[in-house]
Amino acid sequence: MTAAAVRIGLDIGGTKIAGIALDAGGEPIADVRLPTGWGGDAVIAGILDAVSELRSRLAQRAVRSIGVGIPGVIDAARGRVLHAVNLGVESLEISRVVQDATGIRCFVENDVKAAALGAAASRPRTAPMAYLNLGTGVAAGIVVDGRIWRGARGGAGEVGHIAVDPQGRICGCGQRGCIETLCGGGALARAWGRDGEHPVKDILDAADEGDARASALRRDLFRGAAAAVRVLVLTADVETVVIGGGLVALADRLAPGIRQELVDESASSPFLRSLRLDERIEMLPAGSPVAAIGAALLGSASAESVLDKETSVHG
Ligand SMILES: [Zn+2]
Repeated sequence: MTAAAVRIGLDIGGTKIAGIALDAGGEPIADVRLPTGWGGDAVIAGILDAVSELRSRLAQRAVRSIGVGIPGVIDAARGRVLHAVNLGVESLEISRVVQDATGIRCFVENDVKAAALGAAASRPRTAPMAYLNLGTGVAAGIVVDGRIWRGARGGAGEVGHIAVDPQGRICGCGQRGCIETLCGGGALARAWGRDGEHPVKDILDAADEGDARASALRRDLFRGAAAAVRVLVLTADVETVVIGGGLVALADRLAPGIRQELVDESASSPFLRSLRLDERIEMLPAGSPVAAIGAALLGSASAESVLDKETSVHG
């Protein structure tokens, strides 16, 4: 192994960049938070600022790779992100630009898939697992043998756009009744239609007080999340669905409802009951830096993928 064992991971969100540096054993040794700019040039500048901020705290230790988790469609072969609409980016070649500027290999992955890798890193590698992100939108990442299952075109895990309710609300994707329209924070906020900084919390509070519309939206939230869990287990037979994303700040109020929904929906089906869906979900602690950790692991041999032709063995 070379001395260059530190790996940097960056999670590019709509408002902030969360960065982390991991040592050879995968332990965090530095972290940073910076605001995200709007547009391609600002996103690149933010990435480079975060990298130099982290490097300044590494006491001259060499950095082996930089990983970037970013919302959008990833062209893995070219290290490019497409349609990152929340960042004002239509197409951006991240890997090449960051490599040219830093001299360090750079890998790019969709932020939810990176988070899936990060969530898997702290778990036993024996069984396939899924990470379900309940945030403004809804998507999942599937990890098999410690690697992200991207599928043929990178679309594996896009469970948010499986339509489950023919009478449901119209989704941003153009379909009706997608899982995301039921349990996505953005869709719930639009359906609720009232001002407030934390609309999903407001919905749960109002439902607790007996508001009928809020109660219906809370039921949608549980139904949508339960549907996503069911789809992930029935298609990939993942042992565990780890639930993360912005909504897990409300985990204490969500987990019992999602579990109960899974139990109720299994009541008439010995088959579904045998899958023990309610026992397969886990809530990630709020604020866990799994996307940055997963991004840092993109360049490691253990996470080898089409992004990474590196063959040197880690550890
Ligand atoms: Zn949709």
